[in-house]
Amino acid sequence: MTLDQACWWAMRAAQSLRPVTYSCPLCDAKLHAMSGHTLIAPEGDASRRRHAHTECVVEARRAGRLPTYDEWRGAQPPRPGLLSRLREGGDGGK
Ligand SMILES: [Zn+2]
Repeated sequence: MTLDQACWWAMRAAQSLRPVTYSCPLCDAKLHAMSGHTLIAPEGDASRRRHAHTECVVEARRAGRLPTYDEWRGAQPPRPGLLSRLREGGDGGK
């Protein structure tokens, strides 16, 4: 298991015409880029994205291990200051 630590994951379906193989980070087995699979990126970081078997992603998500941004965001405690900061021009986003 070589998954990065991340609060949430961006993911999308992918398929490549290049005859390369990747290692699926969820099961460590080989993955052919030319077959349909799923790209997952920790917190949307494309430089750390990984190619994973779609079945592995589905299984990991069923186990609650790959939350999407919306799922993670929905699980956070409310932050009362956020809306007012946005109204002021949104410069204090950190
Ligand atoms: Zn896999």
